[in-house]
Parts: sequence; C-alpha cells; structure tokens
Amino acid sequence: APLGAGVSADELPMRDALRGRSPYGAPQLDVAVRLNTNENPHPPSAALIDDVAESIRGAAGALHRYPDRDAVALRTDLAAYLTGRTGVRVGPENVWAANGSNEILQHLLQAFGGPGRTALGFEPSYSMHPIISAGTDTTWIEGKRAEDFSLDLDAALATIVECRPDVVFVTSPNNPTGHSIPTEQLTAILDAATGIVVVDEAYGEFSRRPSAIALLDRYPAKLVVTRTMSKAFAFAGGRLGYLVAAPAVIETMLLVRLPYHLSVVTQTAARAALRHAEETLATVTALSAQRDRVAVTLSELGFRVLPSDANFLLFGRFADAPGTWQRYLDRGVLIRDVGIPGYLRATVGLTAENDVFLDVSAELAATEV
Ligand code: PMP
Repeated sequence: APLGAGVSADELPMRDALRGRSPYGAPQLDVAVRLNTNENPHPPSAALIDDVAESIRGAAGALHRYPDRDAVALRTDLAAYLTGRTGVRVGPENVWAANGSNEILQHLLQAFGGPGRTALGFEPSYSMHPIISAGTDTTWIEGKRAEDFSLDLDAALATIVECRPDVVFVTSPNNPTGHSIPTEQLTAILDAATGIVVVDEAYGEFSRRPSAIALLDRYPAKLVVTRTMSKAFAFAGGRLGYLVAAPAVIETMLLVRLPYHLSVVTQTAARAALRHAEETLATVTALSAQRDRVAVTLSELGFRVLPSDANFLLFGRFADAPGTWQRYLDRGVLIRDVGIPGYLRATVGLTAENDVFLDVSAELAATEV
C-alpha cells in the first residue's frame, strides 16, 4: 500500500462544503475514438508546431526569471484577436488570462463569490460551475432549464429577483445541451441581476450568435464574458482561458490571482498559437458541417437530438444511459455520460471518427433507443 494509505479522506478535517463531493471526472481512457471532452479534433498544423517550438526555444533563456505577472503581451494579442472577431474595440485592460477558463472562473468566484455569498446557474449546465462554487465556499443555487433544456427565462428571472445571487452563470452555447441564449434573453437577465453575470462562452467560436462582448459597453459593472483557447482554438493542452470585462473587473482579478500564475512557457505558446488563429479557426466551418451531418444521421436512426450551436450533441433517449455509454466504449468509442437521465453527449470529431461513431450508433439504435 502507498505511504499513508491508512487514512481516508473522511477522517481529514476538511471543510464541510467539500464532504461527500466527487471530483470533476471525465474518464481519460486510451481508446481509438475519443469524443468525450469537446476538444477540436484537428491537430495543430506543422507551421503552428514550429512556431510554438521556436518561440519557446527563444524564451527558454529567460526561464531563470519569473514571467510577466500581468501577461501584458499575451493580453494585448488576445484583445487584438477579439477586436478582429467581434468588431468591438477590446483593449488589453479589458482582458484577463489564466490557466484555462476554469482558473478564470475560480478567480471570479474568489472575488465575487465566497462565504455568505451565492452563485446561480441553470442546470443541466457546465458541472464545474457548482464545483468551483463549492471550492470557494460560495452557496450554489440550482436553477432549472425548461423541459426541452432551453433556458426558461421566466423562471430564471424569478429566481434572480427572489435570490439576488452575487454571481449568475449563463453558459452560451450551453454545455452539455448545445443551446445558446438569444441576446434579448441575456439582456433581460442582465437587467434583472444585481450582481455579476458571467457569460461562459467556452464554445463561442462555434456559435451562430454574436458574442456577449458586444454588450459590455451597456453593462460594464455587471457583465463578464469568459472564453477559452481549449475548444475551437485547438489548444486544450496549452491551458489558456481568458475573460473580457471592464478594466475594474481586471483590477479585481489582480487581488486574487497567485503571482506568476501563467508560466513563461504558457504565455509564449499561447501567443504563438494566436498567430495562427486564422488557419486554426478554419476548422470550425468543417466541424460545424460535421456536427450537422452527425445530427441529421442520428435523427434518421431514431435518436432524439438536441439542436446544437457548439461542437457536441446531446442525444437520447436511452432506457439506461450509463449502460449505453459502456456499450459505445466496448466498441472503441468514448463519449460522455453527463448524468442526465436518458441522454449522452458526443463531441464532433474528424470525419472518420464520426463515421465510426455513427456506425456504432446505428448498431445500438436497434436495441437502446
Ligand atoms: N466552460 C465550459 C462551458 C466548458 O465546457 C469548459 C470545458 N469543458 C470550460 C469552461 C473550461 O475549459 P478550460 O479550462 O479548458 O478553458
């Protein structure tokens, strides 16, 4: 047994908020077709790989020094990227960066949540919102989505008015359901909210709707838009997330971040990846076409498929979703059981991966649906 194995977690003096909780746990299994964590399946181009490698070689001579604490060069590049994509004039003082948008969300809850405070989300949604809330001792309020998993605006507004949460999470497009929020619903939430509204746009580049960044001018004291290079940007392994907000929000982030949280290697690699944004994001069009093809074929096979504005599909209905998940895995296809009874989530992969997924789906459709 490992050293110290005699003690169990239950016996440790941990905070009550963490007792009995499960860690975030998408299984990391070595199977042929991995469609479970919503990455971009297109590997980086040779040019991007060279640029990352040469840039890190260039930066390696300064690894005995701490990195730029405020990552100004990277934030400047991110701001330029966002300005180009949204047409909104975003500056480096509007951008904060961290190790994945998960760390961004943690910074936000450290600053705007915490003991005695509340955060509201509309479930099913991204499982890390309640987990990071627990980690920061922020009380989680579980709002519910409509029967068809779209946002129930009236219920959302009623909960906001009643509970006055310090933080409201709106995930758009929503993981795992795929819906994105219409602008007029988002402004209704922003108008009703008394605290911070975090619009989690991890899948923003896949969406047909404009980014909430366009609303920052109108709601500078409330709106925070979080994004990531992990999804469309094909940089999940690089760990780079960011937020866009008023400069005052970024000043607040400086109070909670750890000094030098973004390594020289991360900052350098992310800047190199950003230089290749255009070629990377060209894969988004191909993935959207694949998403539509997979959705149509699944529907034809008799599955119920939710409309998706992202790079994944929630589909069902299964009598026993965990069992069906296992049968996909037994046939070499790893998808995701997100804990919604009757449904599973599949990331859109490369054409050949989607073919395998659809073949297995055709085989299982006969008995599972
Ligand atoms: N938000 C949403 C909605 C997500 O689905 C994810 C990744 N699963 C994240 C945030 C976090 O991603 P990362 O930390 O890689 O930026």
